[in-house]
Amino acid sequence: MEPLRDAQTGAFRKSFRGEVLLPGDRDYDRVRRIWNGMFDRRPAIIARCAGTADVINAVHFARDNGLLVAVRGGGHNSAGNAVCDGGIMIDLSLMRRVNVDPENRTARVDGGALLGDMDRETQLYGLAVSGGGIVSHTGVGGLTLGGGFGWISRKHGLAVDNLLAAEVVTADGRLLTASAGENPDLFWGIRGGGGNFGVVTSFRFRCVEVGPHVYSGLIVKRFEDAKRYMQFHRDYVRGLPDAMTAWIVVRHAPPLPFLPPEVHGQRVVVVPFVWLGDEAEGARLIRPIREATPSLGEAVGMNPWVAWQAGFDGLVEHGARNYWKSHHLTALSDACIDRILEFAETMPTKEIEVFIPHMEGAPGRVPETATAYAHRKTPFVLNIHTRWRDAADDARCLAWARAFHQATEPFARGVYVNFLSDEGEDRVRAAYIPEVWDRLVEVKKEYDPENLFRMNQNIRPS
Ligand code: FAD
Repeated sequence: MEPLRDAQTGAFRKSFRGEVLLPGDRDYDRVRRIWNGMFDRRPAIIARCAGTADVINAVHFARDNGLLVAVRGGGHNSAGNAVCDGGIMIDLSLMRRVNVDPENRTARVDGGALLGDMDRETQLYGLAVSGGGIVSHTGVGGLTLGGGFGWISRKHGLAVDNLLAAEVVTADGRLLTASAGENPDLFWGIRGGGGNFGVVTSFRFRCVEVGPHVYSGLIVKRFEDAKRYMQFHRDYVRGLPDAMTAWIVVRHAPPLPFLPPEVHGQRVVVVPFVWLGDEAEGARLIRPIREATPSLGEAVGMNPWVAWQAGFDGLVEHGARNYWKSHHLTALSDACIDRILEFAETMPTKEIEVFIPHMEGAPGRVPETATAYAHRKTPFVLNIHTRWRDAADDARCLAWARAFHQATEPFARGVYVNFLSDEGEDRVRAAYIPEVWDRLVEVKKEYDPENLFRMNQNIRPS
């Protein structure tokens, strides 16, 4: 791609309230970096938007100059779509305002806000947005557009189920409201269809009451009992009230202070949980976890919601190399557990997480075609979060993740679009059911017929 000429960028700069960065500018290298250290891409221009008018200008500039467009929300997605080589990066990271309306229990959240921004502001009023993930430096933008689940979504629904409206800049530079009453097709599409239909400059969410403290914690189990624990867990979680969420993470133990030092760096099964209720009932509900197999340690209690939401941040800081392979599991059968544990035995690095959230509850009570997020009936997700530091380990780590994914394919149906790597159109389709895919293509044709927004899990308008 030709470098942009001064004459082109000069006029653009004049019309722009935020910052325009070109290769060589002081902040260029810092801003083009995203969470996944695998991606070292160099946009021809970065438009750091200060507001909606900047986003509109950037979209026009991209179209007029035939530029590839990457939109950066939180920059967290493991597939690396927030940044492009050549082209324009429309960076929303200066747009992070959150305004809460406590009376109506809603929050208006800018398209570049992070989950931590949203949690802090909503908690001032004892509120939270359900479906808002588990790592505070994740972007609200990408998370919501793909679906959005978290510790309280079994009780209160996915982020898309709590989305009331959004402001969207479409490929032709129009600013549209998407809601049940205005542009309902667009509203349907952005609730699971990712960034395919435009740049969302703000979201308006319904909030729920949470905290300020929640009964929550980690119980760490021995890896040698992993099969027995997982057999117990698959039935136990399916009998829990929706207000209680317990997941499984198989990994090497971080140096957590409540674990004996000899356990640090050893394989373990971590059981994180959140209970939205009183402490005594929470203690009763987790007793079976404690009794199922011996524990190596635990940290359980009433934790501030905002702190809990940021509690895992340190394990997944920016900059490491990451490769995700995922699918939804129809059950945690014995054979599936055996495959998972076979691969857990051979994890190539100590930062890898085999992450198995339990999804049933409120999301499954919404019809599968009501929003573009479609796989609402499968009980578990398997996310193979492969994470390492050294490029020399790339081939080994990728091969392990792919083989693991393939070995668990017989137990899987569908995938969460936000957990896809760059895996091709068939895998993007796998994130949807056929009726939903067909409708997504129609909505794409209407709002982005030339596929301006294609640096994403792309739905081609044909
Ligand atoms: P980006 O990389 O900035 O964007 C991802 C995609 O969305 C890109 O295609 C981008 O163009 C588009 N996009 C982003 N913002 C906008 C916008 N405002 N308008 C238009 N398009 C936009 N997901 C969950 O549901 N629950 C979890 O608990 C969870 N935990 C995670 C933990 C970690 C450590 C990581 C890395 C991810 C996690 N995710 C989780 C997945 C997360 O939802 C996705 O990675 C999501 O895409 C991140 O959004 P982002 O805005 O930070 O990403």
